[in-house]
Amino acid sequence: METAKIGANEKGGIHRLALSDEDRVVRDWFRAACEALGCTVTIDDCGNMFARRPGKRADLDPICMGSHLDTQPTGGKFDGVLGVLAALEVMRTLHAAGFETNAPIEIVNWTNEEGARFAPAMLASGVFAGAFTRDFAYAREDRDGKTFLAELERIGYKGAEPVGQRRIGAMFELHIEQGPILEAEEKMIGVVTGVQGMRWYEVNVHGLSAHTGATPMHMRKNALLGAARMVEAIHGIALAHGPDAVGTVGLMEVEPNSRNVVPSEVFFCVDFRHPDEATLDGMEAAFRAALSAVLEPLGLTFEEKRIWRNPAVRFHPDLIACVREGAKKSGYRMRDLVSGAGHDAAYVARVAPTTMIFVPCAGGVSHNEAESTTLEECGAGAQVLLEAVLAYDQRFA
Ligand SMILES: [Zn+2]
Repeated sequence: METAKIGANEKGGIHRLALSDEDRVVRDWFRAACEALGCTVTIDDCGNMFARRPGKRADLDPICMGSHLDTQPTGGKFDGVLGVLAALEVMRTLHAAGFETNAPIEIVNWTNEEGARFAPAMLASGVFAGAFTRDFAYAREDRDGKTFLAELERIGYKGAEPVGQRRIGAMFELHIEQGPILEAEEKMIGVVTGVQGMRWYEVNVHGLSAHTGATPMHMRKNALLGAARMVEAIHGIALAHGPDAVGTVGLMEVEPNSRNVVPSEVFFCVDFRHPDEATLDGMEAAFRAALSAVLEPLGLTFEEKRIWRNPAVRFHPDLIACVREGAKKSGYRMRDLVSGAGHDAAYVARVAPTTMIFVPCAGGVSHNEAESTTLEECGAGAQVLLEAVLAYDQRFA
């Protein structure tokens, strides 16, 4: 609730886009909170933050916990934030108890997880894991043309450490489920076994602007009509590849966006997800076929580009076992889940043993100001995070 004030909006949510002034304020808060526990905070040159508490053995790679502190433009209080703050709570608990782990423990705050300001999502964890180059990240622009690099420098969070150089021994990310399953089944803990595959596309549709009163219907090239039919087609493609497929158009820009002008240009984004790569290939083919089939008869032209692809991920069995053990020890009801959303952990899994823990969120609502998880649920997640980290640390005893 304290960090939720940073970028708080009147609807009870948070507007805290990556590398904004609000992001700088919450980063300063986080750094100070970690340093108050004696942690050493290191920042890499993509703005990723690592707060380290030493263990008995300096030769071991750290066991990491964390997530992200940036939000969607109308984000909730828990998406990402819970994973960082619960990690901080774990760190405070270890500190207060004077408990010495074998391996060093680190909290990580990854930059620009949401992708709301700088697409694609999970940008800086992706660079860390080698999925993108650092220069690719630096060159990303927001809709105002400001670059990731310029904004990173502006808020003072371009650190000295080269991104990806740091070693991670294991990574645990606690997150809200962002779906309705745990709540519906009255389970407290989701043992996350992997992340479904995701693909993002951008489409520009070109028509012709014309007077809405003077242009007969059959003589129009209405780019928005084409885009609207594509929204319907994309919805249908997801249904046709069900039950596990999802497809969404969540962003659209209309030019000139005037009530009495036939729209000449539309830009929209497509998001497809499925646990299986072959099905995603089928959805992609159907989408591309639909673009020609829908737009060309309307006299429209278009460009389409796949801007991002994240293959399906399986998490590490040893870490998954530690989460199960932690949930069992704490007495929480649990079930296995495959994540429907993308997470930093999906990239980190490429370079280190990684897993995730889910807790319920009310109604499965996320990326929404109404996002809500109870104190008890947040506490359960933090408790299981602590137990899982300590269970993993036992291997170094
Ligand atoms: Zn998140």
